[in-house]
Amino acid sequence: MMRLPLFEFRTPRTVEEAARVLDGEGPSSMVLAGGTDLLPNMKRRQQGPRTLISLRQVEGLSGVQWDGTGTRIGPCATIAEIAQDTRFRNGGSALWQAASVVATPHIRNLATLGGNICLDTRCSYYDQNYEWRKAINFCMKKDGEICWVATGSPKCMAVSSTDTAPALIALGAIVRLRSRGEEREIPLADLYNNDGMNYLTRRPNEILTEIRLGSLHGWKSAYWKLRRRGSFDFPVLSVAAAARFSASGVVEEARIVLGAVASRPLVATEAANALLGRPLIEQSIEEAATLAARLAKPLDNTDFDMSWRKKVAAEFVTNALRELRGDDMSAHRLQLTQYVLDSDGN
Ligand SMILES: Cc1cc2nc3c(=O)[nH]c(=O)nc-3n(C[C@H](O)[C@H](O)[C@H](O)COP(=O)(O)OP(=O)(O)OC[C@H]3O[C@@H](n4cnc5c(N)ncnc54)[C@H](O)[C@@H]3O)c2cc1C
Ligand code: SF4
Repeated sequence: MMRLPLFEFRTPRTVEEAARVLDGEGPSSMVLAGGTDLLPNMKRRQQGPRTLISLRQVEGLSGVQWDGTGTRIGPCATIAEIAQDTRFRNGGSALWQAASVVATPHIRNLATLGGNICLDTRCSYYDQNYEWRKAINFCMKKDGEICWVATGSPKCMAVSSTDTAPALIALGAIVRLRSRGEEREIPLADLYNNDGMNYLTRRPNEILTEIRLGSLHGWKSAYWKLRRRGSFDFPVLSVAAAARFSASGVVEEARIVLGAVASRPLVATEAANALLGRPLIEQSIEEAATLAARLAKPLDNTDFDMSWRKKVAAEFVTNALRELRGDDMSAHRLQLTQYVLDSDGN
């Protein structure tokens, strides 16, 4: 049985208090939300904070609020709440589709949106217990010096595996970060580094306190996820696409984001620009899919053959964009598990 190491547990009641405690405890402390990622990581000795600062009793960090200008989501809103909120089913479809395929129903009830956004990166060599990693002499992400995926690499290439971040970035999300005596807002896209160890630009003393979306009027969005098991599994490739259409169906704004093919969600700007100024016709969809798939450089550190995952990227961008156009893609979605079984992805 894997046991948690000893740690001190703090339960602040306000954001100010939480920020003060986090700042005072320094880098040996971490915030805890649902604990569905951090606690297993601590059991595997991948992360070892001496102090955990629980956000569960902090006022003002939960819930979803809508007004005419947009949506404010508290970082402690659970993934289940997002998946069940029917108000996201118009422009915000990508977010509820992403939330509804995170882990299992039981985990979604505990897991939070903030925790999902800040989720640790993953790698087949890292996501093992302590003894397994010790037997191969660890890797640079924790306790070692070498990268077992690319032994000459100076940097870790563990994979960003959050489902909701690509969807939120496609919807143009802004996040608010709070530290002792300071507050700042940044586009969610700027929260990420393409580095498996330093994957967040969040400073160690900052708490994510709000996720904001602008008005979704005129927007359509979709999220497609590749995973081995249809019941639950982390993504090994995902595509989030969002577009704002004029009354006549011309694409006026668009974003395409790839997940799980790098250490951060990848924003495919050139691909999205290829959609602008015309309706979503097959030609523009094909151009965008080709351009987006060029960005995907999956490595051999998650499930499936990496070149097959790259091929699927183009297919999923096509599917997501056809869904935005209004094509009925439900049969394709239902067949995803069979698609994986029939594939040559191993
Ligand atoms: C079996 C299993 C399957 C899973 N499948 C998926 C999946 O398919 N897709 C997926 O995306 N995830 C999956 N997960 C991972 C995890 O359950 C989710 O990502 C979840 O949303 C994490 O949220 P949490 O509240 O539990 O985060 P926690 O575990 O509490 O925290 C995760 C990280 O975020 C930090 N953090 C949390 N909240 C904040 C905040 N407000 N400010 C700053 N830092 C913060 C923590 O310090 C920690 O580093 C799975 C987990 C398990 C155990
Ligand atoms: S990519 Fe390399 S350094 Fe990073 S977790 Fe995997 S083996 Fe370790």
